[in-house]
Amino acid sequence: ALADKLTRLVKELRGQARITESNVQDMLREVRMALLEADVALPVVRDFIARVKDKALGQEVLGSLKPGQTLVGIVNRELAATMGQGVADINLAAQPPAVILMAGLQGAGKTTTTAKLAKYLIEKRKKKVLTVSGDVYRPAAIEQLQTVTRQAGGAFFPSLPEQKPLDIALAALDHARKHYFDVLLVDTAGRLAIDQAMMEEIKALHAALNPVETLFVVDAMQGQDAINTARAFREALPLTGIVLTKLDGDSRGGAALSVRQITGVPIKFAGVSEKLDGLDVFDAERHAGRILGMGDIVALVEQVTAGVDIEAAQKLAAKVKSGNGFDLNDFLSQIRQMKQMGGLSSLLDKLPAQLMAKAGALDMDRADKDLRHKEGIIQSMTPLERRKPELIKATRKRRIAHGAGVHVQEVNRLLKEFEQMQGMVKKMKGGGLMKMMKTMGG
Ligand code: GDP
Ligand code: MG
Repeated sequence: ALADKLTRLVKELRGQARITESNVQDMLREVRMALLEADVALPVVRDFIARVKDKALGQEVLGSLKPGQTLVGIVNRELAATMGQGVADINLAAQPPAVILMAGLQGAGKTTTTAKLAKYLIEKRKKKVLTVSGDVYRPAAIEQLQTVTRQAGGAFFPSLPEQKPLDIALAALDHARKHYFDVLLVDTAGRLAIDQAMMEEIKALHAALNPVETLFVVDAMQGQDAINTARAFREALPLTGIVLTKLDGDSRGGAALSVRQITGVPIKFAGVSEKLDGLDVFDAERHAGRILGMGDIVALVEQVTAGVDIEAAQKLAAKVKSGNGFDLNDFLSQIRQMKQMGGLSSLLDKLPAQLMAKAGALDMDRADKDLRHKEGIIQSMTPLERRKPELIKATRKRRIAHGAGVHVQEVNRLLKEFEQMQGMVKKMKGGGLMKMMKTMGG
């Protein structure tokens, strides 16, 4: 994942207070790769990288967190900003019936999304919804919409394959007016690829229906091709929003960035399953994480934290293997590493806002104070005591506590934690360090 690669680069860059032209190049190369792997279209990637570079260059690295993490933050924020901010809800501000026109290639998910939207509008917005299919070409397309509309609890305006799409749509609009529907959802035909006849047809539908929303439905798995499709639809129609479907697949969803950039309209919804409740309001920040392969907060915190740890974990593992047990000196070096990173609170300060909110539940200031105490306690021990903690009995404990300016209970607590950690180190196969850090953080 990108975060891994950046973390590796960060290790080489540690100590540099600023992101400079030279060190940012390497990191941007990784970002570029990650975006291409996520199937963001090349011109869009170039544009994006240029913007990130502008923002990154010369930016002070606040606190003690190093350039790589800052860059991850910049990339993440810029991605989220590019894909849209806030919630772009469906617009129904029109003389009823508000018409919503669905556009997109065949198989993009128009019919499914039409029914999902019907369900959403009926259940969440308490609207009276009518659907109609202008897809007279694909066998059973009309029946498909009828079936899913029924499942969604909406009304369906029947049509026949021998009718013209425009006539169907106008008849449906008339029916919707007469029967006081709030919303008319117009499903349309798609082709396997863009063709002129299809574009002319949907343009005519748009002109006749004057929709309040013209939604471009696009398959997130479409990858690089999404840019061409988006361009063709943008040129044909005044789009008002995007629905990105099939985000439950394993694509990283880079198409979101491409289509957003090309069309300039917000991504309003994300299709996340074949079922009718599989429609989410699009969340740009969450999606940025997905494109970067960072998953969720836990993964990100782990990656960022791991930047400092891996080396130490390897040393420890080697130590354990070689028969030299994990002692309090190792424990001390762990604590110092944590402090070197600026402590837990500083680390969390650098996370994107959304992630910070989730992390806010942890009491980081206390955890940092705790780290300082632990360091003081171990520093009050003699070299022999650090190597052989089992020697530390009551008298020594009192001396150590006095030296560190803490209560004896704190010394006891540290020794207990150390014992637990020792057990963990023995079991550690390389991935256990995060758990260890958590124990240390209190
Ligand atoms: P249309 O040709 O644009 O009308 O596309 P359809 O609505 O018929 O969908 C094509 C296929 O994609 C169908 O098998 C749908 O079940 C499936 N599909 C649509 N949206 C989603 C989605 O968000 N997730 C998944 N997994 N499948 C979807
Ligand atoms: Mg269809």
